[in-house]
Amino acid sequence: MAKLSDPVTVLKGVGDVRAKQLAQRNIFTLEDLICHFPRGYEDRTKLVSISQLEADQPACFRAMVMNTPRMSHIRKGLDLTRVQVADTTGRLNLTFFNSKYAAEQLTYGREYVFYGAISGDFGGYSMTNPVFETPESGPVTTRRILPVYPLTAGISNAVMLRLVRQALSVCDPPPEVLPASVRQMYGILPADRAYYAIHEPASMAEAELAKKRMVFEEFFVFSAGLALMRASRAEKTAQPYADCSLEPFYQALPFALTGAQERAVADILADFRAGAPMNRLIQGDVGSGKTMVAAAAVYCAVKNGDQAALMAPTEILAEQHYRSLAGLFEPLGIRMALLTGSMPQKQKREIRQALADGTVDFAVGTHALLSDATVFSRLGLVITDEQHRFGVAQRARLSAKGSDPHLLVMSATPIPRTLALLMYGDLDVSVIDELPPGRQTVDTFLVSESYRPRINAFIRKQVEQGHQCFVVCPAVEEGEELGMKAASVWAQTLQQTVFPDLRVSLLHGRMKGSEKEATMADFAAGNADVLVATTVIEVGVDVPNATLMVIEDADRFGLSQLHQLRGRVGRGGSKSYCILTTRNRNQETLQRLKALCRTNDGFRIAEEDLRLRGPGDFFGTQQSGLPAFRVADLGMEMETLKQAQSASAQWIDSSGTEDTPEASALRARIGTLFQRAEGTMN
Ligand code: ADP
Ligand code: MG
Repeated sequence: MAKLSDPVTVLKGVGDVRAKQLAQRNIFTLEDLICHFPRGYEDRTKLVSISQLEADQPACFRAMVMNTPRMSHIRKGLDLTRVQVADTTGRLNLTFFNSKYAAEQLTYGREYVFYGAISGDFGGYSMTNPVFETPESGPVTTRRILPVYPLTAGISNAVMLRLVRQALSVCDPPPEVLPASVRQMYGILPADRAYYAIHEPASMAEAELAKKRMVFEEFFVFSAGLALMRASRAEKTAQPYADCSLEPFYQALPFALTGAQERAVADILADFRAGAPMNRLIQGDVGSGKTMVAAAAVYCAVKNGDQAALMAPTEILAEQHYRSLAGLFEPLGIRMALLTGSMPQKQKREIRQALADGTVDFAVGTHALLSDATVFSRLGLVITDEQHRFGVAQRARLSAKGSDPHLLVMSATPIPRTLALLMYGDLDVSVIDELPPGRQTVDTFLVSESYRPRINAFIRKQVEQGHQCFVVCPAVEEGEELGMKAASVWAQTLQQTVFPDLRVSLLHGRMKGSEKEATMADFAAGNADVLVATTVIEVGVDVPNATLMVIEDADRFGLSQLHQLRGRVGRGGSKSYCILTTRNRNQETLQRLKALCRTNDGFRIAEEDLRLRGPGDFFGTQQSGLPAFRVADLGMEMETLKQAQSASAQWIDSSGTEDTPEASALRARIGTLFQRAEGTMN
């Protein structure tokens, strides 16, 4: 018997080459193979007669070969094999492309089971490249439910299937981690059945049950892990901040905080006084003013002798935070520094020196803050902005630069409550559910290409009134993905043919960091009228004078992403608009986009997005900041997710410390899940 942790090379036929191919998919051990779940299934169980075959509906049928297969050489690289087969109900011509196998195997007068779909051509039906095997062999490729695996170069589905099967035959599947009581309550398959059933289900219904179990298990483990983390954090201590009065800070602000901002600040101050490290999520829709809440926290931390760090996902955003906060903080005697990857080495070194010796109180930066070279002398407060762009891992790495520092994470991505609990289950949450006064809703329109002249006229009108416009395109360059408007080309068209008299500039992710900053700063300063950009401007960018957001080929974006983009306008006092253009005529797509025209409420949009796309997509994106879930490909049911969550909460409450084999297997699994996700956990 082999062990789950054994390398894949213990399997027959797996040498260095195969191992490397598998590694491309992060498959290193037998366990990885066994946990490489199919992303779907092909139901090949249906057996019909030739007369019952329907066009484009693949099915199995049993038939006799009626002639000796003829192989003809059409041209270099193209050989055709033709053969006729028949059963008692009819005859059918089969064609195989470049299949020496078919030519050699299919024998006149013998019976085979085929699986394929007929298609009509030249007035008759024929079938191309069916798979086949003899009635006595298999069932391997016919008469079964065939799992369809996520693949990697060099490994076919058949090979993957064989490897997984082999792994399951030489070692036991992972141990049960779900308590029997939980399995009973939610009708969950036991592990020893589910791992076989997911790879070789006897029926589609069994495949569904197996999938449900895997999803349930993963979320159960994940939420149990978060609950334990939270419990262990609760044991840590922090010196309470003695002086939490924010008067000078409030005096320096150009506006009064909203009620919701004040409540969030009060939550933070209560954490600061509590004697344990803060772990708080500030969740607020775009434009709700999260930055100022973070600033209040920074002010308090620095005043109490700590250093603070604010990490943003893009250089543009870090730069913008730096610019806007420096103006506020420097008069208050807080020494700030900006640290981004694209800064000259020498400058980075100086700033790192200043952080290490404590002459800088507050660092704003990008991932550069995480590098080993960045050391703080007394980091007491860590803030991540737009947390959904970071993994829990990065949050933890920044925290590790202090000793149990306070942690504040900010996210504008309105995440439906269920998912929020999953993603941030280890955090306390403050919600900013109120926009600063004077904000108006952004009127949103969905239009087709025929509106182009009107869109152009509208852009011009906004500019004439002294405002600025964003135009967002889904691609950087032409031809990257078929039929998507490309920012670089579109910027040129707008500048040269549509608005020769206006100032059009271009911003995309492939520009150098310094170039991006310069372009963005220029636009913010009012030196350009129209900024054509890719989604680099999605998060956080704040240019209050911009009143129009045009999104080209809006169907290419997710609803939540569109909402984020729309949030770039409506930030000043002036009426703002968002125009979504699409060339798509699909009713479902249009309905989806219309949801955005109906509401400005990010949470409702996120719920809608979730309903339409399912949590699989929500988690599938690299943006979620979640650990890499094995089941992300399975297409998860919201219901299963909710069940797993309440089951884990209940179980932790009632029997979290019980000493059963399941409980210790669960603790081990939690350990590996979080390790895999984050490297280090605080
Ligand atoms: P987000 O929550 O999207 O990060 P920001 O912090 O960027 O929002 O704030 C959006 C804009 O609103 C900024 O221009 C900011 O200066 C302004 N703002 C924040 N709080 C208030 C307030 N209480 N009153 C007026 N304007 C505010
Ligand atoms: Mg922000």
